[in-house]
Amino acid sequence: MRTRTGVHSPKSWRNLQDSRSDGLKAVPCITASDSQHPTEDSMAQNYDAIIIGAGQAGPPLARRLSDAGQSVALIERHLFGGTCVNTGCIPTKAMVASAYAAHLARRGLDYGVIINGDVRADMQIIKARKDRMSEQSRTGIEKMLRNLRRGAVYTGHARFRTAHEVSVGSQTMSADRIFINVGGRAVVPSMPGLDRVPFLTNSSIMDLDTVPPHLVIIGGSYVGLEFGQMFRRFGSQVTIIEMGARLVQREDEDISTAIQDVLIGEGIALRLNAQCIRISGDAGAITAHIDCAEGSPSVEGTHLLLAVGRQPNTDDLGLDTAGVTRDERGYIAVNDRLETNVPGIWALGECNGHGAFTHTAYNDFEIVASNLLNGGARKISDRIPAYGLYIDPPLGRAGLTETEAGRDGHKILIGKRPMTRVSRALEKGETNGLMKIIVDSQSQEILGAAIFGTGGDEAIHCVLDTMYARAPYPVLEHAMHIHPTVCELIPTLLEELAPPAS
Ligand SMILES: Cc1cc2nc3c(=O)[nH]c(=O)nc-3n(C[C@H](O)[C@H](O)[C@H](O)COP(=O)(O)OP(=O)(O)OC[C@H]3O[C@@H](n4cnc5c(N)ncnc54)[C@H](O)[C@@H]3O)c2cc1C
Repeated sequence: MRTRTGVHSPKSWRNLQDSRSDGLKAVPCITASDSQHPTEDSMAQNYDAIIIGAGQAGPPLARRLSDAGQSVALIERHLFGGTCVNTGCIPTKAMVASAYAAHLARRGLDYGVIINGDVRADMQIIKARKDRMSEQSRTGIEKMLRNLRRGAVYTGHARFRTAHEVSVGSQTMSADRIFINVGGRAVVPSMPGLDRVPFLTNSSIMDLDTVPPHLVIIGGSYVGLEFGQMFRRFGSQVTIIEMGARLVQREDEDISTAIQDVLIGEGIALRLNAQCIRISGDAGAITAHIDCAEGSPSVEGTHLLLAVGRQPNTDDLGLDTAGVTRDERGYIAVNDRLETNVPGIWALGECNGHGAFTHTAYNDFEIVASNLLNGGARKISDRIPAYGLYIDPPLGRAGLTETEAGRDGHKILIGKRPMTRVSRALEKGETNGLMKIIVDSQSQEILGAAIFGTGGDEAIHCVLDTMYARAPYPVLEHAMHIHPTVCELIPTLLEELAPPAS
């Protein structure tokens, strides 16, 4: 989670793995664990706050509220830490690191390093490594929660009984403030054949301890691409089926094309403009039947991964009973301060539809905690969209794309440079990709940037922070950056701004 760690997150909460396993344990005011204080339906246990879900926002909020002297019940139905810790960021980035090691080992000769013998991925070791990281984080979070001074942990599925009462099994609790942090899950489309053919999602693929001979992936956005490239590097044959004309369609075409070139260069088969309409076969011999203008109308593989999007875990939460409004896709409607339409109920993280990332969920926590406990006036509209796509090289994205900026009516200037012209990339032997920055020619505001190249996930922050500082682009243009880094080329990009080729 944005325990983001091993050492987890940057602020105090983010070091929780090491914390709270001692001091507070001795003085719990409310004992942790449901089994220790069962309450009958008729005698609801009252708390100052109830938090549903131990994902990226719930646990740090529980800690902040407890530290502020409030009694808190936190309810988790499955794994502490939620998606990021157990089936998302942490395990995938651990596996991406293994895939990178395999890739670099195969390229050893490029660097003058001789490896005698085959480079082969051992899926059991890879799995054990990522499992260790997830477990360390998960147990750290659970331990922190169970040791909160004013906290109680309930395990089970939470459901609203009224706008201020929640039940977990036979137990009921009430609070004036309820925070929903239930996250989301992989969408399983209603596609003929899927009920009879085994398939993987981002959760079940975590259990693989052998390398699939041929992994077929439906969906060409970030989840599909991360798994696609990593399994290709582990030795699988990989085919990605995408119904759109290009991968990662939220990005500009030049970025999508560069990503496609990298994946094709590694031997991944792409089927674009291809909509999967039916699945057939059995374990080990699966066929995806596709509606496509070009190429074969079927793709055969041994394993099938669905990566077609996420849906919020809001369908079985009793939200209607509580009167909480959802949109047509099931996301809980919130205002700029993350309040739902029902006073005293907030929704944080992926379930509110305002970001499907760990950093957006964590930022939701920071907004709510600041507003409730520190008299803050923070809003989600203050944040700048940003995300990382963790293929290799990684893509770091901040703010608007060129297409979005144009659509919003900005008069734009663009700076662009291939990674082949970045000294740091040349020295590292990693010259795939490009960097691109977009500014408003009139206001001199930086509107957005994409760095698809080595270190792009880190380097993007020099642009992001300048955007947060609302500094005009010449401030960054005139900054002296360290040589040799990817960031040192950002001022140069700004010197080379030009109108977009139309
Ligand atoms: C493969 C993959 C890779 C990813 N990589 C990244 C990445 O690199 N960077 C990034 O920023 N984001 C990444 N994400 C997205 C990120 O993991 C999620 O956006 C983030 O975890 C959402 O956090 P959350 O707190 O909203 O919900 P979650 O982390 O999903 O937590 C919700 C929790 O609520 C619990 N819950 C649900 N319903 C109930 C109920 N009724 N009662 C009790 N408990 C309940 C769930 O069990 C879960 O523990 C990735 C996602 C995937 C799938």
